[in-house]
Amino acid sequence: MKTAIYIGKREAEAEKGLSELWNELRAGGCELSFLEDGEEPHEDTDMLLSVGGDGSFLSASKLVAGKDIPVMGVNLGRLGFLSENRPAAVAAAMLSGEYTVESRAMLRTDVHTGNDAIDSWPYALNEFTVHRAGAAMLGVDVTLDGVQLPTYWADGLIISTSSGSTAYSLSAGGPIVLPESRVLIVSPIAPHNLNVRPLVVPDSTQIVLRMHSRDEKVVFTADNRTALIPSDTEIGIGVAQFSLKRVQLNRSNFIDALTEKLFWGEDVRNIK
Ligand code: NAP
Repeated sequence: MKTAIYIGKREAEAEKGLSELWNELRAGGCELSFLEDGEEPHEDTDMLLSVGGDGSFLSASKLVAGKDIPVMGVNLGRLGFLSENRPAAVAAAMLSGEYTVESRAMLRTDVHTGNDAIDSWPYALNEFTVHRAGAAMLGVDVTLDGVQLPTYWADGLIISTSSGSTAYSLSAGGPIVLPESRVLIVSPIAPHNLNVRPLVVPDSTQIVLRMHSRDEKVVFTADNRTALIPSDTEIGIGVAQFSLKRVQLNRSNFIDALTEKLFWGEDVRNIK
């Protein structure tokens, strides 16, 4: 199996568990190639391993989404939501073929930001956001398939996938959504209203954002990439034509990550 390896943080390379993993994979007949910064995996790659946390997985997903190469997260720290596998479990699964490949929806935007990191790859696995760039509050008009919502007056707005529901959207009070749910989440950031809630919409929805601000610019983000755009920019967002192929070893890992990373259900009554 031709296996490309993306390592998010270079210091992780020295981890003992990793050198054991590479040895096991080589002994099992895998051909390993370690990607340098900015390098993309060869077209004939069978799998990409992303070593690091969920943040590293976002960068790895950019290297393979749309290319039909599945990516597996190898996590050295706390369990993540995107990167959820311990090195010890990875070799056994890869060599025995005991894993499944799931499809994760990605977002696409039509906006031109002037930042090549976004314009050359206008996709996101977690979310797109708009955020105020100055002191003034941001007004955001949202249309869903042409139907206008009341204006949000807030610090910003998040359009998130199911995968992104446990990331920024969660901090803005958005719902936790199981990854296989075919929905998008519209979450305002610090809205100046008592009566606004995050909204869950079908992932077939075409979303358009128009902003009002006294400031000339607003911040636009695509996962871990950022641009400053004129505040009168119109932004179209929908689900991308391709999805991310993600290797899954165990369906219950999402609940494990909720407990381990976000301390879900931490309650003295739940201590066994
Ligand atoms: P970062 O600021 O260095 O770290 C962001 C944190 O979000 C890390 O702890 C990362 O986990 C975690 N994370 C990323 N994707 C996640 C997911 N799908 N589910 C649960 N946790 C997730 O930034 P980064 O590493 O470049 O990641 C960019 C992401 O940060 C954005 O896509 C956005 O969702 C998130 N973010 C969150 C806030 C907030 O919550 N207030 C603000 C800005 C950005 P690891 O530690 O495992 O890498």
